[in-house]
Amino acid sequence: MIITVANQKGGVGKTTTAINLAAAVANKGLKTLLVDLDPQANSTMSYVDARAITKSMYDVLVSEEMEFKDVIVPTSVPNLSIAPSRIALAKLESKLIGDLDGPFRLKDRMKDAPTEYDYIFIDTPPTLGMITVNALVASTHVLVPIQSSYFALEGTDDLLETIEKIKARPNPNLQLLGVVITMHDKRTTLAKDIHDQIGQVFGDRLFNTVITKSIRLEESPAYRESIFTFAPKSSGANEYYSLSEELLSRV
Ligand code: ATP
Ligand code: MG
Repeated sequence: MIITVANQKGGVGKTTTAINLAAAVANKGLKTLLVDLDPQANSTMSYVDARAITKSMYDVLVSEEMEFKDVIVPTSVPNLSIAPSRIALAKLESKLIGDLDGPFRLKDRMKDAPTEYDYIFIDTPPTLGMITVNALVASTHVLVPIQSSYFALEGTDDLLETIEKIKARPNPNLQLLGVVITMHDKRTTLAKDIHDQIGQVFGDRLFNTVITKSIRLEESPAYRESIFTFAPKSSGANEYYSLSEELLSRV
């Protein structure tokens, strides 16, 4: 199972969802890998000291000599490893464009990984460029976090269109695993309207679990911990746990 977390809108909760869902699944004893494909390296920094990273996904994607398995490092979470990113990855877009195997590079380089891990989560940058396309081509599923806001659905058409294009050719097996609402504020009626609106568009693909706004979720990466050890009793921990249960029941 390879699950890409994608939305080309910035700051909607992709990284927060990827790091905590991966931890929730790993906590169940399932061997889990988090692949950071975002040059911002936020997932990487949430679990490891980025200064200690010498080999990253960039090296794997540009050089045949660097094996995927050789960049993977353990995290503080048992059963969870990470294939880190670093800023150099930003140069990748231009390198892959015009390359015939450009969209397939990640899939080719990761080909042995699905047998070694029960679940692989891929965090992507806020663009629909070559890096995100590589992730979608290599994946079995895509999970879309949508921020609870007035403009929540703006841009999702482009994302869905990209998913359809990838399904049409390079990866017919790609499935929309689900859509999760993030940073929800239960107190406002606007938030309820937004929830209803997203539900109308995505139907049963909308996860029942809603991730509410929580300071704890913002804080935990600074301590290089998942929400489950940083604030185990917080709403964020409960919600990401329940999202993981829903996810596992869908795949
Ligand atoms: P980018 O597009 O830049 O990669 P992203 O989609 O990965 O962003 P995050 O980095 O996960 O989004 O979240 C954006 C900001 O919002 C971060 O500061 C994060 O800590 C915060 N955040 C995410 N989810 C929540 C939440 N449920 N409650 C409060 N803050 C949150
Ligand atoms: Mg991010």
